[in-house]
Amino acid sequence: MKNAAATSAAAELPAVAAPGPTSDIEAAPARPATSGEGVVNAMSIDVEDYFHVSVFDGIVPRSQWAAMESRVCRNTERLLDIFDEFSVHSTFFVLGWVAERFPHLVSAIASRGHEIASHGYAHRLVYDQTPAAFRDDVRRAKRLLEDASGAAVGGYRAPSYSITPRSLWALDILIEEGYTYDASIFPIRHDRYGIPVSPREPFRIERSVGSIVEVPGSTVRVGPMNLPVAGGGYFRIFPYGWTRWGIERLNTLEQHAAVFYLHPWEIDPEQPRLSAGALSRFRHYRNLAKTESRLRALLTQFRFATVRQLLETKGLTTSDGPASAALPYLW
Ligand SMILES: [Zn+2]
Repeated sequence: MKNAAATSAAAELPAVAAPGPTSDIEAAPARPATSGEGVVNAMSIDVEDYFHVSVFDGIVPRSQWAAMESRVCRNTERLLDIFDEFSVHSTFFVLGWVAERFPHLVSAIASRGHEIASHGYAHRLVYDQTPAAFRDDVRRAKRLLEDASGAAVGGYRAPSYSITPRSLWALDILIEEGYTYDASIFPIRHDRYGIPVSPREPFRIERSVGSIVEVPGSTVRVGPMNLPVAGGGYFRIFPYGWTRWGIERLNTLEQHAAVFYLHPWEIDPEQPRLSAGALSRFRHYRNLAKTESRLRALLTQFRFATVRQLLETKGLTTSDGPASAALPYLW
């Protein structure tokens, strides 16, 4: 019955308009304890500090990173406590730079039952690197993460979803460096990333050097467009009701899992303020004080597991799983 109720609730929403600005968790109507029942979504955290983010490139040069006040351990431990509270296991895409300085953080994440994956070493956009530099970056991160966690690392997510039509060569390097899945392609239009024609669900990509599973950022299909729904700025800046509506729609109408993502700094309203342009400040600081309560609402209303567990349920962790998706022409 809950499934039917959730389906009809999602279907009643207008096809294009997102919930209005007052539709946050505080004002949201009562919902079933669990929406989208039956579908287990993937939870993921990109473990980096507030000064690592791409919008602050050039404001905090890499040479100054070590001198900055670090808040990543405290914020990540807070997330670990929240996940314990809800008995949820997540994938943590950890920046190699963080793992090098705080290996105990990586081992703590792993020992609490979560999946360790790679966010690269130095948080450089893929399409700004040479293939050789990219190879060094992902190799170094993988080694640091495996040393700290004691487990094999198979997953990778690029800074700012920066695998785009001009950096598809990165998939070959990930395969050669032993990664088994990538979560760096967002099938949307955006000023800095995205391949709008790419498939919206996890799929295997065949390349000349082997194959890799792609785990796209989650979208809802509205008319001819894919709209992002599950995490980061889309979770924090838009009203909470947008994410809830989107995941519910994915889970019930499409019977697909969402892949949600968040950063530790997004639950830290006390973080030092950096001087950046107005758009960057808006993207980074908007609604920081609301994110933790929204995350708790999300964990109450939907079911989550790790990315690896999602791929296992889809038979995408072994090469004899479902056949590769037909690739768009640009591949
Ligand atoms: Zn990042």
